[in-house]
Amino acid sequence: MSRTIVVTGSTSGIGLGIARAFAAEGANVVINGFGPPDAIEATRRELEALAGGPAGGKVLYHAADMAKPDEITDLIETAAGTFGTVDVLINNAGIQHVAKIEEFPAEKWDLLIAVLLSSAFHTMRNAIPLMKQAGKGRIINVASAHALIASPYKSAYVAAKHGILGLTKTAALELAEFGITVNAICPGYVLTPLVEKQIPDTARERGISEAQVKSEVMLRLQATKEFVSIDEVAQTAIFLASDAARSITGTHISIDGGWTAQ
Ligand code: NAD
Repeated sequence: MSRTIVVTGSTSGIGLGIARAFAAEGANVVINGFGPPDAIEATRRELEALAGGPAGGKVLYHAADMAKPDEITDLIETAAGTFGTVDVLINNAGIQHVAKIEEFPAEKWDLLIAVLLSSAFHTMRNAIPLMKQAGKGRIINVASAHALIASPYKSAYVAAKHGILGLTKTAALELAEFGITVNAICPGYVLTPLVEKQIPDTARERGISEAQVKSEVMLRLQATKEFVSIDEVAQTAIFLASDAARSITGTHISIDGGWTAQ
């Protein structure tokens, strides 16, 4: 029987890559995120074709705003109502805002904390009873190298990402005896729309060119001097969701080209 995977923020970037990797394994996948309805429907169909057509997994789109707890509850209830349960929960939705703390808009702070941190609490709160009932489950939080170290001008992002590692460890301890693992993936820089969008702001804050942002800010500490690929993150999620990873819980896997080794 197909497993059911919920991936928040999967209309783009890393989340879409993770949704694709699970669809390729024939899973039922619930995708979520913003975007033009036509493009989202095209993505849903593409993923469903990958999942194997009528005999394989199905792909459902749910438009929940990850800043809104009621909509998050509806996302998990809809996934369980459609496919029976949630086997793998991937908390991935994300946004960024780059500014000095004293100029950081308070409403942006609240939004980043809601989308990057509180949303994972709400998805987990709703999905854990389903996983306990099934006696198994996998929760994977897409954190960041910024869960381990800081960069200036990213106060809300760094605070939320550090927070999600704490949530990951706490949930792992609470769920360890129920066949449910909880882990985080900490990527370095991956060239997705989220990263592309912050390049002009970072250039402005630091008074450097956009090319310098890539070479002197983003890849300066990434020892490989290369961006991480979406597929590397997706395949790590596949591994963490596999039976081979059943004793890995309450920890993180860094995929950062050596950034946090320094
Ligand atoms: P992205 O911008 O390509 O994708 C973000 C996704 O989240 C999109 O589908 C978007 O629609 C969705 N989203 C944003 N706000 C939402 C909301 N309120 N409700 C529902 N969906 C929402 O970004 P990405 O780079 O793929 O980032 C995905 C995750 O990976 C984020 O948590 C990010 O912090 C993390 N991450 C990214 C990088 C990187 O370098 N790109 C590095 C480390 C960690």
